[in-house]
Amino acid sequence: MKLLNKVAVITGAGKGIGKSAAELFLKEGAKLVLSSRNRRDFELFELENNPKKENIIFVPGDISKVETVNKIIDETIYKFGRVDILVNNAGFGVFDNLVDSKLEDFDAMFNTNVRALYLLTRGFLPYMVKENAGTIINIASIAGKQGFATGSIYCATKHAVMGLSRALMFELRQYNIRVVAVCPGSVATDFFRSDSKTVLSSRKESVLQAKDVAESILFSCTLPGNATVSEIEVRPTNPIKVKR
Ligand code: NAP
Repeated sequence: MKLLNKVAVITGAGKGIGKSAAELFLKEGAKLVLSSRNRRDFELFELENNPKKENIIFVPGDISKVETVNKIIDETIYKFGRVDILVNNAGFGVFDNLVDSKLEDFDAMFNTNVRALYLLTRGFLPYMVKENAGTIINIASIAGKQGFATGSIYCATKHAVMGLSRALMFELRQYNIRVVAVCPGSVATDFFRSDSKTVLSSRKESVLQAKDVAESILFSCTLPGNATVSEIEVRPTNPIKVKR
């Protein structure tokens, strides 16, 4: 098992990429702290994966709220005493032309995609520094490297995640802590909700699946300790455009 007894915190673990990463980590022997908003998603996770109670905790809550971030940190340290891997995955996008966008969506995206990542990382860092080890995986996006129409705010949040990750990597290498930015292309998840203005332009089965990104996350955490992949760009091999 590649992650035996490693303590991993995964945000946005209720569905999509976060859930797939949690399932893969569990199979690899990790102890898990899973956070997401919806309690029902945790019940489903338990039903589907039957984890040992001593190896897992669920911390529900809205990660854009400071209280949720503090709860995740406190409960992780209370239960396991340390953190080895932090996967900052929770995130979402509201897509529209900037002129039509709403301030509340701007604030919600930045508070979830950027501020929560910052707060959680800052809160866990002293514990990783104490261990002189750790891996922080930030789920950015291809949208963190390029722009597209209707994505100005979402792209701004993901560019922020890239900037933070690139700078932090240099800050933390002296403590043997790795910082990895994972940049997926299109992944077939609930990210593309029916009420969103951004729909998958390629056939669902031809783009990345959540488990493909989960494999990239696992890869980043299981390299030899002296090696860091600071960025992973993972794209669908052969996305097939939907004819409209
Ligand atoms: P998803 O299926 O919608 O899953 C997102 C997860 O994050 C859900 O469990 C969601 O919980 C949680 N979440 C969102 N906002 C939250 C908040 N304020 N507090 C707590 N939990 C929150 O989407 P996904 O595709 O797996 O996305 C995961 C990450 O990958 C995101 O950061 C996204 O930006 C990034 N990404 C996705 C794609 C893609 O094509 N899908 C591509 C590149 C990057 P709820 O169920 O409560 O909403």
